[in-house]
Amino acid sequence: EAALARIDALDGGLNSFITVDAEGALREAREADARIARGDAGPLTGIPIAHKDIFCTRGLRTSCGSRMLDGFAPPYDATVVARFREAGAVLIGKTNMDEFAMGSSNENSFYGACANPWDRSRVPGGSSGGSAAAIAGGLVAAATGTDTGGSIRQPAAFCGITGLKPTYGLVSRLGMIAYASSLDQGGPMARSAEDCALLLGAMAAHDPRDSTSVQRPPQDYVGGLQQHSMEGLRIGVPREYFGEGLNNDVAAVIDAALKEFEAMGATLKEISLPRTALSIPAYYVIAPAEASTNLSRYDGVRYGHRCQDPVDLEDLYTRSREEGFGDEVQRRILVGTYALSSGYYDAYYKKAQQVRRLIAGDFATAFESVDIIAGPTTPGVAFKLGAKTSDPTAMYLEDIYTLSVNLAGLPAMSLPAGFSDHLPVGLQLIGQHFDEARLLAAAHQFQ
Ligand code: GLN
Repeated sequence: EAALARIDALDGGLNSFITVDAEGALREAREADARIARGDAGPLTGIPIAHKDIFCTRGLRTSCGSRMLDGFAPPYDATVVARFREAGAVLIGKTNMDEFAMGSSNENSFYGACANPWDRSRVPGGSSGGSAAAIAGGLVAAATGTDTGGSIRQPAAFCGITGLKPTYGLVSRLGMIAYASSLDQGGPMARSAEDCALLLGAMAAHDPRDSTSVQRPPQDYVGGLQQHSMEGLRIGVPREYFGEGLNNDVAAVIDAALKEFEAMGATLKEISLPRTALSIPAYYVIAPAEASTNLSRYDGVRYGHRCQDPVDLEDLYTRSREEGFGDEVQRRILVGTYALSSGYYDAYYKKAQQVRRLIAGDFATAFESVDIIAGPTTPGVAFKLGAKTSDPTAMYLEDIYTLSVNLAGLPAMSLPAGFSDHLPVGLQLIGQHFDEARLLAAAHQFQ
């Protein structure tokens, strides 16, 4: 009830939710009370949680921020949603997001932009902007997000919260609406690393219904928070993350954070990730290519938006998609279809995949001599609403420090490191595959 009242009072000014399910939440809360009374409660029982509107929720609208799915109520729960339900968490609503997770500012949402609670004239980041804003505004303590190229970490940085993008394959993608399947990964967003550890424990598990889900023994991420000492931890600091384009205030906050790690006993080592700049062109070929195939399922026939009175099948497809998809989504479909078409495939898609392999190799080389990598999450702080909407390439440049992590399938997190003026600055920590526990421990001990 307190969470619902807070949403009622504040979300008019934020627009962090697309759907609030008050009735369902109160029902689940009563069930949680009964579970607590029976003595079979876990740490998440009764905790209100918001899911990014990309996760399918049985019987509850799942729009993915798009007009295309405005009226879509899935017949099943995403595995992540089901796991939180089993843990007794209370599903309070679905958060705002860039349409089909394409964006870095939440301004591509069919349901309107979302404001940053630190300064409502600014963006919360994207695409998981609603989740980040809802947490920063104190509307909920925990939410889910997804990260294809930075969509958990960048909004976490802009909103001054903590977010973790797990290793590709650690968290099930079943029921998570696909954007770029080889890059998409769901993860937790919360105020602290400790809360993220608790949430990740509930999310990470093998799912036989997701062929890319890995089989690994369950891990106690909360218990691990104190197990990894910062004494002797080797932190790699990539030269390329501190070059041209990085805002001076952000650089100063990150430098100070790195000094704190040194004071805790860690050692800093300059490293090089030489193909960082290539991550943008490689990602913005691969992600749209995968998106163009994934989004072919929205044809106006099986589900989703259907145009009025089509004259024939061609008209049905064309108008349904034209009306259902926003500008950025249509741009990605065009770019992706072009990159995959015969005659251009070798020049663009294949080349991008080769660059992807080289980027993964650069990380592998770096991790031969360091345990984790640290740097800024974003080149600047939250920008003004509308500042970049007319220039898609300026928007894509926002992702310079986050994209390569997805191309390599690595885990990474963003945690609050300080402020530039009144706006939060995020520190990014990148780990080796399946080394989430070490990242969370480093973040926790820093916090
Ligand atoms: N900003 C990037 C994009 O628009 C990343 C989005 C994401 O991680 N979902 O594709």
